This record gives sequence, C-alpha cells and structure tokens, in this order.
Amino acid sequence: MYTASNYVLAQSLDQALELNRKRSSAIIGGGCWLRLGRKRIGTLIDLSALGLDKIQENGEEISLGAMVTLRQMETSKELEAAFGPFFADMVRHIVGVQFRNCATLGGSVAARFGFSDILTGLMALDCQVELAQKGRMPLEEYARLAPDRDILTAVVVKKDGRKAVYQSARNISTDLPVLTCALSHKGDLWRLVFGARPGKAEAVETGDPGSLERLAGEFSFGGNMRGSEEYRRHLAGVLTRRALEQLRREEE
Ligand SMILES: Cc1cc2nc3c(=O)[nH]c(=O)nc-3n(C[C@H](O)[C@H](O)[C@H](O)COP(=O)(O)OP(=O)(O)OC[C@H]3O[C@@H](n4cnc5c(N)ncnc54)[C@H](O)[C@@H]3O)c2cc1C
Repeated sequence: MYTASNYVLAQSLDQALELNRKRSSAIIGGGCWLRLGRKRIGTLIDLSALGLDKIQENGEEISLGAMVTLRQMETSKELEAAFGPFFADMVRHIVGVQFRNCATLGGSVAARFGFSDILTGLMALDCQVELAQKGRMPLEEYARLAPDRDILTAVVVKKDGRKAVYQSARNISTDLPVLTCALSHKGDLWRLVFGARPGKAEAVETGDPGSLERLAGEFSFGGNMRGSEEYRRHLAGVLTRRALEQLRREEE
C-alpha cells in the first residue's frame, strides 16, 4: 500500500497540473493499481471533482472523461449504439463488477500497461487522448511515450462507422490476459491489434482480410509466467480467426 503525506481534491485542472509538477506527487484515478505499490507519495491529487466522469457525444465524436469507470464503458448506451458490444467485450473480463466500478479509463490508459485490454481495444478505433498540457494526440503516439507529469483528461473516439470486435485469452477467468486482440474494419481497411504480447499493444493495417492471419504471425511475442512465446503465437492465429468470423457475422 502507498502512503501519502497530503491529499488534495483538485478544484481545477490548472491546480492539479501545478501540484503534479513535483515528482513526489501522484494523480489518483480509481486507486486500484496504485494501492498495490509501496510508493511514498508527497501529494495525492484526486481529479474526481473536475467533472471528468462523463461519456459525451459531440457530433462525430464520443468523449470519455478520464474518471469514467470501466463499468460506465461497459454499460454506456452511447458506446453500445456506436460500437455494439465492443466496449463491453473489452472490459468484461477485468476482475469483477465491483472492481470495474472503481478502476478508471484515465488510470488504465495513463499507466500504459502491456497487458491492458483497454489499450488494445481502443487502438483498433480512431482514438485521440486529451492531455491537460500537450492537448490532443493519437492514442498510439501517447502509448509509446514514457509516463510524464502531464494529466490525461479524456479519450476521444471517432464515430466513423468503423466496426470492431474484441477477443482475449486468459488462463483462468479474472486473471490478467495471456493475449488480447482487437480487429476493426472500415471501408477497405482492416486494423489488427495485439496486446499482452506480453509487451504493449501494437497495430497493423491491411486492405486484404485474407492476409490477417499471416500478419498476426509477424507480430513480436514473448514469454512470461502466463504463456510462452510459442503459445502466444498460436493464440494469435486462433484469436484472429475468431475475430474475423465475429466481425463478418456482425456486419451481415
Ligand atoms: C488485481 C488487478 C487486476 C487487473 N486486471 C486487469 C486486466 O485483466 N485487464 C486490464 O486491462 N487491466 C487490468 N487491471 C488494471 C485496471 O484495469 C486499471 O487499469 C488499473 O487499476 C488502473 O486504473 P485506476 O483507475 O485504478 O488507476 P490508479 O491506480 O488510480 O492509477 C494508475 C496510475 O495512473 C496514474 N493516473 C491515474 N489517472 C491518471 C490521469 N488521469 N492522468 C495521468 N495519470 C493518471 C496514477 O498516478 C498511477 O500511476 C488490473 C488491475 C488490478 C489491480
């Protein structure tokens, strides 16, 4: 468990940014991950009074505030109307409902976990992150950056008619995934993403759905306590086939 000398319920983003400039400070989202560490935090900055807990449609975009919980993503009517069961499928294996009522989108994306179901899923969509200091940038670019003192305020998803499906494999339900996979299709473009490789999510695009299985085999995979490199490579082919079948069924 971490310890914190001060706790501040931020009254503005500027205040949160200012406090977070210090290396000893930390932002708290749901605190589910933070509580597992033994960090000695100077000032713990709570963003929950800043109205960042909303999912809002703005014309061609849906904006998800950083304090939106995984459960909100799972049950949102707006996300379901735009993307079908995709968001629910992305998060439903993460621990349990009580946990998903706590863990936030901001904490999940900012932590840039290799095993992240959320990074994998979002990378299949046309997504940008909004940062208090740097403004907007593509999610893929953000995922590659090393963590810094900026604050993630929202993830903005384009409603561009893209269809997407989500698959993952776990050794046992509620465990971290052995491999995560998302596939999206828009016009002539297919986008395939793998996460928990065990490295961070990566994406490839192709105009030929017949090449997806071959492309899946070209990702770099590694081994860890949840599965060997060989097993992950095998699963990649299986999940790609399942994702393609599911996408075709949903597009009929
Ligand atoms: C037991 C357990 C099992 C899990 N299983 C899975 C799983 O199967 N799949 C999966 O995808 N994820 C899994 N996770 C991760 C989980 O889904 C969340 O991603 C994680 O808990 C972080 O979200 P949080 O809101 O709790 O963030 P916190 O713990 O509050 O914060 C995490 C980190 O992000 C920083 N941070 C938080 N919010 C912001 C912000 N707005 N801007 C900048 N930095 C910020 C914090 O300072 C901290 O460093 C698991 C976590 C746990 C504890």
